[in-house]
Formats: sequence, C-alpha cells, structure tokens
Amino acid sequence: MSDYLVKLAENPTARAIIKNIGLPTPPSLARASGAYEAEPLSGKTVLLGAAAKGYAAKAALATLKGMGATVDQSTPATLVEGASFDRFVFDATGFAGAADIRALYDFFHPVIRRLKANGRVVVLAAVPELQSTVAARTAARAVEGFTRSLAKEVGKKGSTVNLLYVEQGAEKRLDGPLRFFLSDHSTYVDGQAVRVTTEVKAATKIPTTQVLEGKVALVTGGARGIGAATAARLAAEGAHVVVLDIPQDAETLNATAQKIGGTALAMDITDPATPQKLVSHFKDTHGGVDIVVHNAGVTRDKTLANMKEQNWDLVQNINLAAILAVDEALLENDAIKDHGRIVCLSSIGGIAGNMGQTNYGATKAGLIGYVAGRANEVAGKGICINAVAPGFIETRMTAAMPFMIREAGRRLCSLSQGGEPGDVAELITFLSTPGASGISGNVIRVCGQSLVGA
Ligand code: NAD
Repeated sequence: MSDYLVKLAENPTARAIIKNIGLPTPPSLARASGAYEAEPLSGKTVLLGAAAKGYAAKAALATLKGMGATVDQSTPATLVEGASFDRFVFDATGFAGAADIRALYDFFHPVIRRLKANGRVVVLAAVPELQSTVAARTAARAVEGFTRSLAKEVGKKGSTVNLLYVEQGAEKRLDGPLRFFLSDHSTYVDGQAVRVTTEVKAATKIPTTQVLEGKVALVTGGARGIGAATAARLAAEGAHVVVLDIPQDAETLNATAQKIGGTALAMDITDPATPQKLVSHFKDTHGGVDIVVHNAGVTRDKTLANMKEQNWDLVQNINLAAILAVDEALLENDAIKDHGRIVCLSSIGGIAGNMGQTNYGATKAGLIGYVAGRANEVAGKGICINAVAPGFIETRMTAAMPFMIREAGRRLCSLSQGGEPGDVAELITFLSTPGASGISGNVIRVCGQSLVGA
C-alpha cells in the first residue's frame, strides 16, 4: 500500500502546498537495495569524535575505514569551514560524570546543520548498569536522552540517530552493528538504544558480504508482507530460506519460495504436530537450521469487553504459544546450529499497548520477556535471540485500519511516514548475521522513532 503524502511530497509544488496547510512533509528516504556491500561508505565523509578515555573510537575508526569512508577527525577548532558530512560517529564511552556530557554539545553543536539529508548518526556509550560509580552511570544514561532527542530534530531530513551501549571488551564486536546502523540498510530504525555485549560466543569467521552464505533459515508467515520481504532479503545474503505459511495460502507461498530459490512448507504453525515436523525437516534435509524468524502473526481487534473467547485464544496460539513450542522442540532436539539466530516479531503495540488489542499486546509484550529470558540459556552455543518491534508498516495488516488511525500511525514519527516491509526485513537480516553476535536479549524497534510507546 502506498502513502499518498510521500508521493505528493516528491513534487516541489505539491510539497510547498502541503507545508503551507500545516501537514508534515515526509522526506524522501534513502534505502539500500540488494545485499550488503564491502564498502558502503565509499565516497562518503564521516566525522568521528571521541570524549577522553573512550574505549570504542579505535574500533569505530577501523570499521569506518573498512567501509570505505573518508574519515575526518577534526575537532571544533580545526574543522574546515563549510565542510558537510554524511555520517557522524561519537564515542562517549569515556564519560565518567555529568560534566563530561558537555562533550556532546561541543562535538555536535558546530556541525549538526552540516549533516546531509539521509544522514546517519551513531553514538557509542558505556552500559549504564555496568558502571561502578553513580556519576558514570548517570553520564552514560544521559547519552540516551540526547540521542533520542537529536533523532527527533534531524528526522525531517530523513536522517537517523541511534545509540550503541558498548560493554567494555565488546568494542571488538562493533563492526557488524556499525556497518548496519551507518548504512542505508537501517533507514527506518531510528532513535534506538541497542546493547552490545560479549555474552554470546562469537563465530571466528565474520564475513562482510554474502554474510549468510551456507546458512539455512526458516521464516514463518513467509507467504507475504514482512515475512516475504525477509525471506527475499535473507536469500539475497546467500541463505537457503524455508518459508512456512498456512496450507490455504499454498499458492502465494509457493510463488514466494520459487522467486528466491527457497523451499515452501505449507503448515499451520499452531498444529501440535508442527514443531516435531520442523525438527525432522531441518535435521534430515539440512542437518539443522541456522536462523529462525518467528514472523507469523495475526490481529483480532476488539475491546476486551467485546472480545470473543476464540479470538483471544487464536491470537495467543499463533503469536506466542506456537513460537514457544517450536523453539522448545528445535532447541531440545539440538536442531538449531551453533551460532544460530532467533528473531521474534514483536510490535510497538506490545510496548505501548493499543486500544482493542489486549490479546495482541499481551502476546507481543510476552515475546519481549521471552527473548530476554531465553538469551542467557542459549548464549553458550553462540545463539542470539532478539525481538524486533515494527511500528507502522505499510502492509495488509495496516491497510485494514480505519483512515484516521492509519494517518496517525503513519505521521506520528520522526520520519513522518510509515515503513516498508523491506525496512523490517533489513533489521531482521542484520540480527541474523554472524556480525550481530554482540546483540542478544534486546528488543529493537523499526518504527521511524514512532511517538507510540517511546
Ligand atoms: P501479514 O498478515 O501480511 O502476514 C502474516 C502471515 O502470517 C500471513 O501470510 C499469514 O498467512 C501467516 N500466518 C498467520 N497465521 C498463521 C499460522 N497459524 N501458521 C502459519 N502462518 C500463519 O502480516 P505482516 O504485516 O507482514 O506482519 C508480520 C508480523 O509482523 C506479525 O507478527 C505482526 O504482528 C508483526 N507486526 C506487523 C506490523 C505492521 O505494521 N504490519 C506492526 C507490528 C508488528
């Protein structure tokens, strides 16, 4: 489904009219197409800064060079007049107390107007809960308020700001996250704070292109929408993708699988026989599965007073119980390979709650608790498990919303527009890569920094 305001705003005359009548003018967003490139920042200039005693700038510099960027490490005093930038990276991991927060002003204030449209800003900070002093914890946490606010200021030009909380020692795992958050693969992920740790055993070989070559992935609910976009994106990185959807959708499912050279499995995820069938399928055919994307999900909205029992149960069974049952069977039978990845589709409805979605909200919030609880258990095998929480994404699900609710969903975010299924697919794909070994137990929103639940 297309967004009429985004289309209109592409025309300069219409854009001026939209602005004059007080409607938001959605920026045209840059999106990467296809698979990861080795040097996605080739031809781009990045301003890199660091507060004293930071431990992440060195790793960031190595990644930026690896990405092909021209790196400028000027201080405010040495900045070339008139220079503009495609990216900013600032290492705030050295913050020891409130006085250090000033470094954010000193670095960003002179240059923020020089950030080009569709710019990317990444700030690195220490993990607040791991700080040994109250002062350091305060300063580390302050960075989040700064980045979330800055994201709201630069969003009108299609730019994003994200924060990586980096545990000491985990700076070695920054390459993957920086590559994602600094590229146009992360277009609709905005205003997020993601924790990078050393808790999960990392693989020794971490490629930067064709990152999923030799991997086998399962995407449930993969016939259409976010699932189909994810299947295509995983396949573009070299994975063999098994797409699963209900037997009634076999035709669409087969077409989706065929397009990407994948396998179609027409199964209902809630069928009690499904978990064991999946174990057998993956063990017999591929020796196991590397990536599991729990995407199948439904809504059956009604206020609680009007909600029929079967609609409560249906949503619980598809969106939550089936996921727990499949994972349990796969893990118990050792069918998820070492360094595997599990990604669960949550929702901002699970974070903020939505009128008429007590059933849905409970399942999507349950998944956030689930990934946090499961992460430690599977870390020893190098498996990461995370939740992705989409905001307003243009799919069949949101096309069915009443006009005014749909408009509010689209506009009330820093980028003033809904996301595309491919934007969610990008985040899921990143979390499925070997380079995301520092990220587990997180919930990351892909919502253009929606005001809902923020
Ligand atoms: P969609 O309706 O386009 O696709 C969902 C797919 O799941 C369908 O193909 C459907 O047949 C399949 N499915 C449903 N029940 C199943 C079952 N029992 N067994 C197997 N497959 C089943 O939805 P979408 O918008 O692409 O959403 C995908 C996921 O993202 C869902 O979990 C949804 O809750 C979540 N999400 C979507 C949005 C959004 O804005 N679209 C926002 C937040 C979260």
